[in-house]
Amino acid sequence: MQLPQQLLGSLAGVAGFDKEAFVQTHESGRQVTSVRVNPGKIPMVNSDGSMVKGIPPGLQQHFSITSSAKIPWCTYGLYLSERPAFIFDPLIHAGAYYVQEASSMFLEQALMQTSDTSQPLRVLDLCAAPGGKSTLLQSLISADSLLVSNEVIKSRAAILEENSVKWGGANVVVTNADPVAFAKLENFFDVIVIDAPCSGSGLFRREPEAIAEWSEHNVQLCYQRQQRILADVFPALKEGGVLIYSTCSYSKEEDENIGDWLMDAFTVHSLPLKTEAAWGIVETRSDKHKTYGYRFFPDKVKGEGFFISCFRKQEGTGNTVRMPKRPALQKASKNESAILQPWLQTGSGMQLWKQKEDLFAFPQQLEKELLTIVDNVYVRRAGTTIGKIAGNDLVPDHALAVSTLVNGSIVAVTLKREEAIQYLRRDDVTITTGQKGWTLVQFEHYNLGWIKVLQNRINNYYPQGWRILKRAPDIP
Ligand code: SAM
Repeated sequence: MQLPQQLLGSLAGVAGFDKEAFVQTHESGRQVTSVRVNPGKIPMVNSDGSMVKGIPPGLQQHFSITSSAKIPWCTYGLYLSERPAFIFDPLIHAGAYYVQEASSMFLEQALMQTSDTSQPLRVLDLCAAPGGKSTLLQSLISADSLLVSNEVIKSRAAILEENSVKWGGANVVVTNADPVAFAKLENFFDVIVIDAPCSGSGLFRREPEAIAEWSEHNVQLCYQRQQRILADVFPALKEGGVLIYSTCSYSKEEDENIGDWLMDAFTVHSLPLKTEAAWGIVETRSDKHKTYGYRFFPDKVKGEGFFISCFRKQEGTGNTVRMPKRPALQKASKNESAILQPWLQTGSGMQLWKQKEDLFAFPQQLEKELLTIVDNVYVRRAGTTIGKIAGNDLVPDHALAVSTLVNGSIVAVTLKREEAIQYLRRDDVTITTGQKGWTLVQFEHYNLGWIKVLQNRINNYYPQGWRILKRAPDIP
């Protein structure tokens, strides 16, 4: 692997850079595989209310791993000793876990050390696709907090939506908007996460093909784009709110220099984070304003290249966004709500809404937030889609099956791995069940989706666009 000489040269003055070890790590071909489990689906709390210490037993078996595999800076992160063919693991399609690079999971520390997550927070993840940071944020915020996951590129917003739905939370709105669209939501968010588009040098070990695209010119272009994105969205952060900025670039221009630029352009305060020496993370300070940053080098940390930095906004206009006079959404009628109730867990604190044909659930206490977002930004999906009503019945949506709201007493059938893959390919499923009508299909107790059992056939309702297209080598 030939790393760009200009990159190596430019890193000479960067804190913690050890050229020999850095080059050697890239040439070693060693890869780190990590996943993050979904606490909304995999119980992380014991029956006595204490937290599961180590890895939930079901997953230990599933991945054949030991307790030493925990990622120290992320409650739900695990290292795997090998990289399985994730696409053929039904649990990933059930949203039981997400494959995420370990360094990125440090976002947990950035959020928990700067914000009070026991309080309801309004969080914006501005550059969110494919959803690694957003699914982590979903797991960290309280059920009465709001997460807006945004992606500007339409095709990538579709993938973000898929991953967000599979993660299963109802307090999430997926939007597809340019950062400037959020400027209208003045002083709205408590936390804004900007995992910025960057020159990507931090991923060279995992994706050597990206090396060819790297240039100093591109680093400059990224630096300018990062400034534009930050300036566009800045009005949406509350006074006292936290901006979490990260990249997967090693370049100072895109990392520390952005900190200095922020301090010059706005009234912000740089926030230090606590780390442990054993983690190998390098604390850096910017040249001009000495803002704090945290850089991850793959020769020091068990993870890929990453940089993260946090700021608190010290200024504010005091303006607040006005609620729309005429709400763009209507609440479900009594009759519609009555049809939906048997499908939902009782006491879930949800308001049921209707948009065109679709009925969806969103936390009751976030009504104002929901209506404000819908009024200002293009929303792809809000909350958990429950389904459509046909006559006096519900046609359940896939999102309900993989959500945390679905009623646990709905009839379910358990599939073997081969059958689950068939189902996820949207092939015909041949299982014997005495049950007729809408039925959940499960793998190792996790819901995969719906089937409808008719008199002499079974219809597969797995979403067409999400089906597995590849053939599993060990399944005919
Ligand atoms: N946060 C994501 C995660 O953890 O899965 C990864 C985000 S990736 C580093 C950066 C994202 O920014 C990409 O999805 C990209 O499409 C988006 N992006 C590209 N140009 C942008 C722009 N001008 N404004 C906002 N986002 C942009």
